[in-house]
Amino acid sequence: MKMTDTQLEIIRNQLKELTSKDCFYKEKLKGYNIDIHSQEEFEQLPFTWKGDLREAYPLGLQAVPDEKIVRIHSSSGTTGTPVIIPYTQKDVDDWAEMFKRCYEVAGLTNLDRIQITPGYGLWTAGIGFQIGAERLGAMAIPMGPGNTDKQLRMMIDLKSTVLCATSSYALLLAEEIEKRGIGDQICLKKGIIGSERWGEKMRKRIAQELGVRLYDIYGLTEVYGPGIGISCDYECGMHMWDDYIYFEIVNPKTGEVVPDGEMGELVITTLRKEGAPLIRYRTHDLTRVIPGECPCGSPYPRIDTILGRTDDMVKVKGVNIFPSQIEEMLAGVHGASSEYQFMIDHLNGRDICTLFVEAEPDANRYTLEIDVQNNFKNKIGISVIVKPVDIGELPRSEKKSTRVFDNRY
Ligand code: ZN
Repeated sequence: MKMTDTQLEIIRNQLKELTSKDCFYKEKLKGYNIDIHSQEEFEQLPFTWKGDLREAYPLGLQAVPDEKIVRIHSSSGTTGTPVIIPYTQKDVDDWAEMFKRCYEVAGLTNLDRIQITPGYGLWTAGIGFQIGAERLGAMAIPMGPGNTDKQLRMMIDLKSTVLCATSSYALLLAEEIEKRGIGDQICLKKGIIGSERWGEKMRKRIAQELGVRLYDIYGLTEVYGPGIGISCDYECGMHMWDDYIYFEIVNPKTGEVVPDGEMGELVITTLRKEGAPLIRYRTHDLTRVIPGECPCGSPYPRIDTILGRTDDMVKVKGVNIFPSQIEEMLAGVHGASSEYQFMIDHLNGRDICTLFVEAEPDANRYTLEIDVQNNFKNKIGISVIVKPVDIGELPRSEKKSTRVFDNRY
């Protein structure tokens, strides 16, 4: 990706401003050349890591005076100290504007009724979907997660046209609708699915059972929240709002920027954020730039659907395994559903891998077991024990699902 002159100018000014006052980046960029004149010079600047953000807990990232901060959000932080991100009113407005743009790409209008199932609270999910809906002028139905009975009742009685959910919760609702035989009472047309990487097979099931067109929405709490990019009707990657963020794809090991089209880690620099601007933030999300123009004609550049996280990768018997590889492999196996759990245990001095996979009701369990075993060996490169289970036996979650369990340590 080529940095545009406008982006360079904004980043240049931002660097000057940030290093001229007492704040996180004054310390962080001490000793670096911040008077940049090119993309190459920008790429000499250090990365910002999640660990840096944790160290700044609670409000060390705040880059403006207290009276300008109107809200904080916090990343879920499964381990250790959470990260707190302060927002100014302008940050909140910008986020709403970007989210509105996402809804528009998905073809939503002020006549839509948007059922929002991600959680409200410290994390950015629910409230982001909400402010975007309000900015668009649509009707927000702020359900939050859980209570499937109530979700379905509201969905029917209020004639919700749009479902916002994680992929696994959308799947749970889709299965429940099928089970109850209430599909003809559902008015959904679109699904906006966020915050989780998901396979093609799962996407097809959700789309089919809900009878909707699905859009992937991208974002992370450290950079506003969901809504900084979304897929369009052509389903060929997510358009990213590069007037609000500048992004790079780097080799996760060396930190070198990789050529367009090559897979690497997404790194984000905010262009307009006031409360907690970020320079070269390592998202840990693995993706690639999709080169060329999108058939939809949008001028916004695209990244691929998130292929995994650098920290989701597990190494077994010398082979690096990403959850996305397992999903891709299962997609090619007849009788396997999209749902699986991968367990790694250490027994008697060696690593033992077990793959639990939900079998389609009409699948032959024995053939499925052999097929998955062979495919795993051929496509991913290691031998695993395969255990087919019934549809619905593996957990569905309202938040991010964990599918890989490394029990070796
Ligand atoms: Zn497009």
